[in-house]
Amino acid sequence: MIGHADLGRQYAALKNELDAAVGRVLASGQYVGGPEVEGLEREFAAYCGAPHAVAVGNGTDALRFALMAAGIGAHRPVAEGRAGQGADAGGPDEVVTTPMTFIATTEAISQAGARPVFVDIDRLSFTLDPERVERAITPRTRAIVPVHLYGQTADMDPILTLARRHRLAVVEAGTLGEAGAFSFYPTKNLGACGEAGMVVTGRPDLADAVRRLRDHGQAEKYRHVVEGYNGRLDALQAALLRVKLKSLPGWNERRRALADRYRSGLRDLEARGAVALPAEMDWGRHVYHLFAVRIGDRERVRRALRERGIDAGIHYPVPLHLQTAYAPMGLKEGSFPQAERAAREVLTLPLYPELGEAQVDQVCDALRAVIGGG
Ligand SMILES: *Cc1c(COP(=O)(O)O)cnc(C)c1O
Repeated sequence: MIGHADLGRQYAALKNELDAAVGRVLASGQYVGGPEVEGLEREFAAYCGAPHAVAVGNGTDALRFALMAAGIGAHRPVAEGRAGQGADAGGPDEVVTTPMTFIATTEAISQAGARPVFVDIDRLSFTLDPERVERAITPRTRAIVPVHLYGQTADMDPILTLARRHRLAVVEAGTLGEAGAFSFYPTKNLGACGEAGMVVTGRPDLADAVRRLRDHGQAEKYRHVVEGYNGRLDALQAALLRVKLKSLPGWNERRRALADRYRSGLRDLEARGAVALPAEMDWGRHVYHLFAVRIGDRERVRRALRERGIDAGIHYPVPLHLQTAYAPMGLKEGSFPQAERAAREVLTLPLYPELGEAQVDQVCDALRAVIGGG
């Protein structure tokens, strides 16, 4: 079955270095925090061109801690002198985000003590529509979380302009906003062998606040200046990620090359209107975490591909505003037509650096056979 990752092949390609990293950590006796974690933080900060990087337990921690450290929500860092005061009179802080994402985005917002406010996506990029963001801003809005879905950045210039004008924090996966939050879930472009995440920021105070939040609010051992979390990264994951980080630029190039091959292989289907290929927006370089096409009759196509040994995915089948967890928001079908349409039509084709050209061709041929006609 051709799926969405081949982590066994990734391991085989880096086996000597990964095994050595594991051995080094096991022999060191330091399993949580320590020099491997600090090394990864230094190297990832340099990779991003960010002054500070703070490693945390996973991507959801990274989002939650970044928001909290930026002073969003009821749980404000002590540095602002408002810890434990809860939401201000008038209701919780609002954070504008997209319904076309994984629930971690809104979990982090709610768990920080703020309220997610959804706005619809742009049809082509699948990311936040800046004009709709502007219309959603209220006096309670404190932040924007633009998700760079499938590896395509959101339209950041207008979003950053809006954020400056309304004095809002921006938390994204990059270095453009107040803070960037990254997930190193195993199948991401850079994946750990377990759970891991990172916050990057240019603000030393924000980096310090995240360091406290990840470690039970400790400023120094057994001196808790605020309640925090157990959100530290373990040394094994850090050591493995340091090895893999060196391959990341090459892996992203490989993802782009395979995406190009899909483009040529599916050009005829696109010309007939049978599939819509992912757009490359002029505002940011797509790194193809996923190759998301739109297709009519998706369920039938997906089943037929499975019969041909191809496991196409659906990211994501239900937009967040229609999830049971958010039923209390009272947002009905029709609230965000673009997100709802994307959730109905998107099919993600296998794409990962270890995938071969011949396998891409096999997927293209299978898709052509399954869709038929012409
Ligand atoms: C993967 C992912 C997350 C969740 O990260 P975890 O490391 O699994 O907690 C959150 N948001 C987006 C956009 C993601 O792709």
